[in-house]
Amino acid sequence: MLSFTEALHDGYGQILRVDRIVHYERTDLQELVIFDNASFGRVMALDGVVQLTERDHHIYHEMIAHVPILGHGRVADVLVIGGGDGGALAQILRHEGVRATLVEIDGSVIETARAHLPMVCEGAFDHPRAEVIVGDGVDFVARSERRFDVIVVDSTDPVGPAEALFTPAFYADCKRCLRAGGVLVTQNGVPFFQGPQIARTHAARKALFSDATLYLAPVPTYTGGPIALGFASDDAAARGALAEVTERFARSGLATRHYAPDVHVAAFALPPDVRRLIAG
Ligand code: SAM
Repeated sequence: MLSFTEALHDGYGQILRVDRIVHYERTDLQELVIFDNASFGRVMALDGVVQLTERDHHIYHEMIAHVPILGHGRVADVLVIGGGDGGALAQILRHEGVRATLVEIDGSVIETARAHLPMVCEGAFDHPRAEVIVGDGVDFVARSERRFDVIVVDSTDPVGPAEALFTPAFYADCKRCLRAGGVLVTQNGVPFFQGPQIARTHAARKALFSDATLYLAPVPTYTGGPIALGFASDDAAARGALAEVTERFARSGLATRHYAPDVHVAAFALPPDVRRLIAG
């Protein structure tokens, strides 16, 4: 029996049975594996770390996309850094009229998702309101003169090419690329295991934005409890109040499986252990 053992955290990991290897590749940047598993359906891993599964990806992708867009309320342009599986892009484009630019460093991830993860990317790479750029997100925000209402950093964990996506310099460039009142959302890891990384990166965002916090999403294959998404804006109202978000969600006509206006608002409620991490 073939199995995939994830070893992201010291001394603890999850094991998934590999029922069928769909794709294996050493890209120029990382090891990319796609396989099928009885409980989670199609699974994508990079460098031995689960990035998404067919069964639970909607929780992460709905929360990383709809919370900033519906919280902000007037979004026209979204930038996604990373996100080469296309899942966040697909959710963003479900908002009528919203344009999205995706900057992914590894073109092989995009091509493989296009071929083997249609249930995740839903054709988003070829959507008329999508622009797909293969390049380093760090360089893009350092050089771009374009401005966005929301920036979603849908990155791998802070090793290899993603390390620079967790630095104060990168966040400062993101802020420069945001329109007034814009929102930065970041994949920040699981507080239970990745507390120091969350504390450090939150402090960097807090130094730049008047409102910086985290919100939480329970994704079973990001093991160890809910994953934290960093949320930063100069407009405290961009978190979204229940009445506004309810009205915007109804107007959007979105059908979702995890996201809902009350889930949106509740996601910003942080347990004391997590609040302590970002209190400094
Ligand atoms: N949702 C996933 C998670 O939390 O595990 C992340 C998914 S997505 C596949 C992450 C992507 O970030 C990868 O495809 C990786 O190539 C990309 N990435 C890493 N560093 C990058 C950089 N500097 N610029 C742009 N994309 C980057």
